[in-house]
Amino acid sequence: MSYTDYDVPSDLIFKTADIVRMKGLQCSAKLAPKNFENILSEPNKILKVSLKLNFSVGQKEILVTGEIDGAARLRCGRCLEFFDAPFHEEFELAPPIKAEIIDIMYEATTALALTENIAPVCKETCKGLCAVCGKNKNEQNCGCKEEAFSPFAALKNLK
Ligand SMILES: [Zn+2]
Ligand SMILES: [Zn+2]
Repeated sequence: MSYTDYDVPSDLIFKTADIVRMKGLQCSAKLAPKNFENILSEPNKILKVSLKLNFSVGQKEILVTGEIDGAARLRCGRCLEFFDAPFHEEFELAPPIKAEIIDIMYEATTALALTENIAPVCKETCKGLCAVCGKNKNEQNCGCKEEAFSPFAALKNLK
């Protein structure tokens, strides 16, 4: 069987016996972002995801390496605007050859969750919102006088 003909199951649960019979497997698939809707916190969302997998059969284990690529729409923690960001994550696992199934969905969702860091910013230089008038300071300089450090300003930026 040719590697490229392999139909990746949509639930990403692979049968170990199939992998062993094929003496390993290399495959790739585009995944439906819909299946990963609940991974990121609102209002962030995954726009596209693709997955590359390599299974190699060892004596007692199957070594699986995976690469997950795609794009997500995230809300900037400073200016609250949405921006699209590409992501790339890798993972590796070595389930025992006796295991009935290899659950890649779990690995994929864990890797995807990493794409949303705690405080995404649209760009390092994002100036955020004015703590006085609330205008997006990337778009215009409102000219408000802000105190150099105000705990209230920081709180206001926390959405
Ligand atoms: Zn921003
Ligand atoms: Zn202002």
